[in-house]
Amino acid sequence: MKLDMRPMLRGEVERITLDFMLTPDEVDGVTLKGDAHILGEITDEAGYMRLTLEASLPYRGECARCLSTVEDTFRLQFERTVADEKTLTDEQMEDNVDEYVIIHDGELDLDEELREALILAFPMRLLCSEDCQGLCPKCGKPRAEGDCGCPTREIDPRFAALRALLDESDEDSTDGDTK
Ligand SMILES: [Zn+2]
Ligand SMILES: [Zn+2]
Repeated sequence: MKLDMRPMLRGEVERITLDFMLTPDEVDGVTLKGDAHILGEITDEAGYMRLTLEASLPYRGECARCLSTVEDTFRLQFERTVADEKTLTDEQMEDNVDEYVIIHDGELDLDEELREALILAFPMRLLCSEDCQGLCPKCGKPRAEGDCGCPTREIDPRFAALRALLDESDEDSTDGDTK
């Protein structure tokens, strides 16, 4: 969405409220349930323009550990200094792309920047909860559903061989004792 920044640039308004929907780019492995809702404001304090907003994006995906459905709203805080292209040198713009959003011809278009920020910040791995225990590697039952009865400790095959040896020698010594 293009915002008309001319009234603020002329000093007529000090605050612009942002409330609009943005169609985001696809996120791999995730179903987006709708558009991102953008809520925020641009304030002007003696020529220093500041943008603060929150984007919320409802989605449905899969827990990376237990594969259960994860439904949540991803929230992204986005803050930038708003600058008119006329007041910034090319160098300033290139060096501080993450700091500024730039007004071109009196208009500010945040869409591309927000789409990019949403994709970059979206969690790579979704979890149903921070301490999701995942699935039992033996039987595949979600650990959250209780004990499946499988042995919890996998014994390294090398140690298994060693243990067999130890067990044997234990038996030997026992035999020795009874003699
Ligand atoms: Zn999980
Ligand atoms: Zn199991």
